[in-house]
Amino acid sequence: MNRSAPRVLVARIWHESNGFNPQPTCAADFQISAGDELMAAAATSGSTLAGIVQKLTKEQVEILPSISVVAPPGGLVDHAFFIGVKERLIADAIALDPDAIALELHGAMGTTRIEDAEGDLLAGLRAAVGKTVPIGIGLDLHAHVTEAMLAAVDICIACKENPHSDVVECGEKVAAYLLAMLNGALRPVTAMAKIPMILPGAAETAGGPLHEIHNQARLAAKGCPAIWDVSLFNVFRYADDENIGQAAVVLTNDAGKKGELVANSLARAFWENRARFTDELLSIAEALDTVAAANSRRPFVLADMGDRVLAGAPGDSTAILEAALHRHDDLRGAIPITDPRSVDIAFEAGLGNVIACAVGGRITPGFRPLPITGKVIHLSSGDFILAGPFQGGEPSSMGRTAVVEIDGRLLVVLTTKAAFSHDPAVFTSQGIELVSRDFFVVKSGYHFKLNFGAAATPLLVRTPGVGYYTKGSLTYRKARFWPEHDVGDPVVKVRTFDRAIS
Ligand SMILES: [Zn+2]
Repeated sequence: MNRSAPRVLVARIWHESNGFNPQPTCAADFQISAGDELMAAAATSGSTLAGIVQKLTKEQVEILPSISVVAPPGGLVDHAFFIGVKERLIADAIALDPDAIALELHGAMGTTRIEDAEGDLLAGLRAAVGKTVPIGIGLDLHAHVTEAMLAAVDICIACKENPHSDVVECGEKVAAYLLAMLNGALRPVTAMAKIPMILPGAAETAGGPLHEIHNQARLAAKGCPAIWDVSLFNVFRYADDENIGQAAVVLTNDAGKKGELVANSLARAFWENRARFTDELLSIAEALDTVAAANSRRPFVLADMGDRVLAGAPGDSTAILEAALHRHDDLRGAIPITDPRSVDIAFEAGLGNVIACAVGGRITPGFRPLPITGKVIHLSSGDFILAGPFQGGEPSSMGRTAVVEIDGRLLVVLTTKAAFSHDPAVFTSQGIELVSRDFFVVKSGYHFKLNFGAAATPLLVRTPGVGYYTKGSLTYRKARFWPEHDVGDPVVKVRTFDRAIS
């Protein structure tokens, strides 16, 4: 460490909050670390915070670790818990007096009292540290970026890929750009253009319209050295907040007008391609028939799109389990279901004993528990380490977890908390090897493709729940967007954020 090295405070506050999940996300749902523990995890994990820490370490910057607070997506965050986290971060920032602040935030966190938690957090942090300390944030591509957030920070960058294969690079960029500010090479001026629409489907960046629009963004950046970053957000559609919409955020080196032009054209591109953002999903029966017919492609991973924990759904759907009990009596599957009450019953019964109970369906409105009879074959704390690459190396927990075997072929993974089931470690940590099953059910629509990789064949399945948007299926009180509402031919809202002159 050289004596003149800048001192940078780092922290992570990560939650994607689904306003249609009735169960709040509370303190017990979060993995919380600080200090040396935060630094040790960030040295190797697959997160944006890891990218920040690794880049700062490489540049021999003095790192001041504050806190890391992460929970799987779920219902709105308990407001009192959020306030406690905010106060801790601000207290650290005041006490440590850093030269800059680098944060990993999701960008779509809401609490039981406020919709724009990150906007509130960042406004508070800015007020505490004053106008001159650079603040950089690395966001998830599914952030709901708000003017309050951009008004408080200097650097705002998202990962570019969905599924998110580039979160480490996102963090490295945040760190590099903060250092560029400190040495005078960058005077950030950011333009945001927003259009009142969501992407009802085709939300992956590897192909289709999104791939084309990201290419347009890359070309624009390549043709203009003053453009340092273009982030395109797939706005989180379960945030019932005003001004949600697809956002293009362009970070320039003192070139706000150019940024506005590029952001505006990218936001228009979302709108002009809106009819192409559709998914081709299989019915549950079609998915199970595919598993039964295609022996050589097993195991399959069936994405339970309606009950995606990765979009904040509770993970308590029994729809695929119910179908699998009655269709093809030889398929071996593994299906996670959030249900603390049934976990208690399994623990009370003990390993090797048969239980008869009704599982799942207790949290999501409209769902019902499903009666099952099966043998308890595994009991654990539910703690595990994500295999990655997305979030690889990060500790996570499903709470106490029981595996119940039905008919000698279907394994129900009963979890106390909603699980990050996009990762195979959810299953392997419970003694379920990938080669032992014909299919796995995951509560994820995209990231499981990254983390299961070539080990399984993905199938996207149309299922009920609050984790997949279909027009008219959810009641929005504040948000107004296409295709849920008639927004006419909308005007793109463009705004420039230049804290030096504001
Ligand atoms: Zn995301």
